Amino acid sequence: MASDSAVASEGSLKVVQDATCTFCGCVCDDIDLRVDGTHIVEAKRACVLGKAWFLNHDVEDRAPCYIEGQPATVEAGIDRAAQILVRSRWPLVYGLSDTTSESQRVAVSIADWVGANVDTTTSVCHGPSGMAFQGVGEVTCSLGEVRNRADMVMFWGSNPAESHPRHFTKYSLMPKGMFVPNGRSDRTCVIVDVRKTKSAKAADIFVQIKPRGDFEALWTLRALAQGLELDPQQVEADTGQPLSAWQDLMDRMKAAKFGVIFFGMGLTMTRGKHANSEALLALTRDMNAHTRFVCKPNRGHGNVTGADNVVAWRTGYPFGVNLGRGYPRFNPGEYTASDVLARGEADAAMIIASDPMANFSQPAREHLGSIPYIAFDPKETPTTRAATVSFTVATYGINVPGTVYRMDDIPIPLRPAFESPFPSDLEILEGIESRVRELQAAERAS
Ligand code: SF4
Repeated sequence: MASDSAVASEGSLKVVQDATCTFCGCVCDDIDLRVDGTHIVEAKRACVLGKAWFLNHDVEDRAPCYIEGQPATVEAGIDRAAQILVRSRWPLVYGLSDTTSESQRVAVSIADWVGANVDTTTSVCHGPSGMAFQGVGEVTCSLGEVRNRADMVMFWGSNPAESHPRHFTKYSLMPKGMFVPNGRSDRTCVIVDVRKTKSAKAADIFVQIKPRGDFEALWTLRALAQGLELDPQQVEADTGQPLSAWQDLMDRMKAAKFGVIFFGMGLTMTRGKHANSEALLALTRDMNAHTRFVCKPNRGHGNVTGADNVVAWRTGYPFGVNLGRGYPRFNPGEYTASDVLARGEADAAMIIASDPMANFSQPAREHLGSIPYIAFDPKETPTTRAATVSFTVATYGINVPGTVYRMDDIPIPLRPAFESPFPSDLEILEGIESRVRELQAAERAS
């Protein structure tokens, strides 16, 4: 729970200082909340998305558990969930990016006990980066280092002005830092994208590249970093920008004292996917022959970085891992949830804090709807509605303490605002894990 010094009273209101917003990967941990019973009435310093996250939070009028659409006790739900998982020959565990790392850890344990396929929402956002990290490695740093040192800040295929509204002001562009004492005026901001996004207004240099030309643009910069001669006509045809523009950018990158490239799904989910991410990671590595350069994916969900970390600690791989043979196998495309479901392979599933029934392909949704599955969510969603067992759970960060990972892999504690009438997914997952162990022990003994 929040420490006493962080919680105070102001008349009838409870004040929680330095609460953590888990709406996006910035995980801002400086939000002061004013709470009236079970309503948050003020979220000081939160951006427009953070305010909507805190102020629109309602405790839903729902039962804590439903089995086949009928209200049930949590204990009955735990037992039925464990029975489904233990009887399954090809279980799938999916989601995990909007809950605490404590819950993620128990979910991966359950996957291990039952030999499941475990995957997270990383597979539909920065999965290609996860593959590239395995192949190329990542020259990286914390957002605190960016704040204090970066004089060249690049965004590639990322639109933080809309997706991470405090990114510029809290971490990357505006803050005055130890080695950039004048803040914004000490930094050069470069935005590379296929269209003029809202973020482009903040840029000193906006480079509009040809759609699907990210790999060619990055490879051009790699060649220029090494001083190779290039054909100007081909560069312009491949990237949409003249060679002189790329040479100018490379000269500035080499002249920087500390450069950073933040990249988003505009890079990872367009033609080239993991090859694009590999090209950007390799360019960052190459730049360290000239100056200090780092890169970092701009992550979306509040604890998707925690999901990558926890799955990697437990299995050696960040997502798309199959534990069916008793040891981990990593193969995106084969063991990623949407593919497993679309091919009709899983015969049971456990979905935590995610809504695949709203955003997976039709074949994947149809198969999920045809198998027994368990769903966890604070709200009613298409996924909870069609679940065999659905649990209504407390919301992480607002009701539940624990740990989340900021997009730069820094663990941040949560300071909840008020208690929920619903259990946390951690309590339920721990109950399912022990029931699974009991059922497996009974099976071995019989
Ligand atoms: S930037 Fe993200 S984490 Fe920070 S307040 Fe806004 S939504 Fe919340």
